[in-house]
Amino acid sequence: MTFSLAVPNKGRLQEPSVRLLRDAGLSFEVTDRALSVPVRNVDMELLFVRTEDIPELVSDGVADVGITGIDLVEEHGNGLASIVELGFGHCRLVAAVPNASPIEKTEDLGGLRVATAHPNSTKAYFSERSIDVDVVSLRGSVEVATKIGVADAIVDLVSTGSTLRVNGLRAVGTLIESQAILVSRKTEVDSVRVNQVATALRAVTAGRRKRYLLLNAPLAAESTIIDLMPGLEAPTVMPLAEEGWVAIHSVVDAAHLWELLPQLEAAGGEGILVLPIEQLL
Ligand code: AMP
Repeated sequence: MTFSLAVPNKGRLQEPSVRLLRDAGLSFEVTDRALSVPVRNVDMELLFVRTEDIPELVSDGVADVGITGIDLVEEHGNGLASIVELGFGHCRLVAAVPNASPIEKTEDLGGLRVATAHPNSTKAYFSERSIDVDVVSLRGSVEVATKIGVADAIVDLVSTGSTLRVNGLRAVGTLIESQAILVSRKTEVDSVRVNQVATALRAVTAGRRKRYLLLNAPLAAESTIIDLMPGLEAPTVMPLAEEGWVAIHSVVDAAHLWELLPQLEAAGGEGILVLPIEQLL
């Protein structure tokens, strides 16, 4: 049977998932209608399905691997292995209460009603801490549950927190830190095909966090600059054709570049180039 990878067909994780797979070198077409799309250059099919259904489809063996959210794996994903964190779709599953509520932390929610679209994760969180809450399971519009008197608190996904603010709510604790993730069945983690997909997606994800940095520097500045950019192992240092000068190459964290570049320039670096890294293992 053809190896299949389940991909979100709409919603927040759809577009970044497709971009990730293309960056990993898979060639395929996305159409509005097709559920199953063959990959042109690899013996694999993509199953475009709802993000929320993906944990179950992988558990049941309908798909071999899938891209979904950590929150959904916790909610629906019995028997699933989380293989690679994919670096997008970041959000938190939080407990929140109306601004005027005296509640300060999740421990204060004992004996109260908590509305959520994540009932399994919510029950698991509170029962692990022996906090007795009454979980009200809703499919959507969780953020208005306290306003209409359905619950005293909610458990919902937030990324910026603006939806909470707009609805007069305040977070009192985080149940799950989530992002998009590659999953397989636990029994398949070590299979060759799962490992191929995992390696490809890990390489792209790691490359996105890094940049290849090259610069020229006078010999006198070499050690100061090396201290500033240690690289994966150690930076590569090569003599330039002009005596007394070296080229220094290194792989650096993308997130730190904005601090690093002025420091490198101040230390005597010249001709500084920053290049993207497609894949990194
Ligand atoms: P969708 O409802 O199809 O747009 O996707 C929902 C999934 O996107 C969730 O299960 C999370 O894994 C992820 N996600 C990322 N940020 C948020 C957010 N602010 N609200 C809800 N889901 C989010």
